[in-house]
Amino acid sequence: MRGNTIIVHKRAKNCLILIVFPPIMIAMKEVSIMIRVTVWNEFVHEKNNPEAITIYPDGIHETIRRFLSEEEDFVITVATFDMEEHGLTQEVLDQTDVLLWWGHMRHKLVSDAVVARVRERILCGMGLIALHSAHFSKIFTTMMGTGCTLGWRMESKERLWCVDPSHPIARDVPQHFCLDNEEIYCEPFDIPNPDESVFIGWYQTGEVFRSGQVYRRGYGKIFYFQPGHETVPTYHNPHIQKIIKNAVRYLYNPVKREGGVVCTHNKSPEESE
Ligand code: ZN
Repeated sequence: MRGNTIIVHKRAKNCLILIVFPPIMIAMKEVSIMIRVTVWNEFVHEKNNPEAITIYPDGIHETIRRFLSEEEDFVITVATFDMEEHGLTQEVLDQTDVLLWWGHMRHKLVSDAVVARVRERILCGMGLIALHSAHFSKIFTTMMGTGCTLGWRMESKERLWCVDPSHPIARDVPQHFCLDNEEIYCEPFDIPNPDESVFIGWYQTGEVFRSGQVYRRGYGKIFYFQPGHETVPTYHNPHIQKIIKNAVRYLYNPVKREGGVVCTHNKSPEESE
């Protein structure tokens, strides 16, 4: 007999147990979902700034790749500015569920064609995590539609406050924690009002900053996360690592929709029923 065999086993009065054979095959039929992550880094400071080289000898992207690799369901690719098409070919983006972006010195040199390609992929459902000085990257300013300017000066102790402990990005993260040194980014931050606010940064010198917020664009989500200056060991901090891992999971959208949200010539709802 082909297919599964169903046996009705009479165990007790009025109690039937269904046993489906072959049971072992059914138990092993687990669907494991892998989240495809691409970590993009311009990779400049970690080649020419001794402080950055000491903290991130293989580049910020390698440090991020290593801690993300602790998650068994993450498949990670790294890409850098100097690679052909900055390592973000259509093929790579088509295989990316969540893209992380660290840039600072080369924002203006990033290819407009690559930015357009990344934008299109976000609108179709890819997530984008814009890290630290990516606030001024072409892709982030394009997706925000504002100047994304902010106040800044040299380092101070920062205390990161979670303003929404129920948010998935804040899962297993303390309500507040300190970074001994982080570059001061402060308000006013010229961004649209966030769809979801998760973190606010407070500096010992008195400044405050909207440090972690989520935007929805098309079918994709974007998380901006402020900590991560290149001369301080922020990406070695376990709370920071946890937040970034959580953000990858939160931004993951299993369904990508070709063309994003498109214009349609609609019939009236009554006509189409
Ligand atoms: Zn910085």
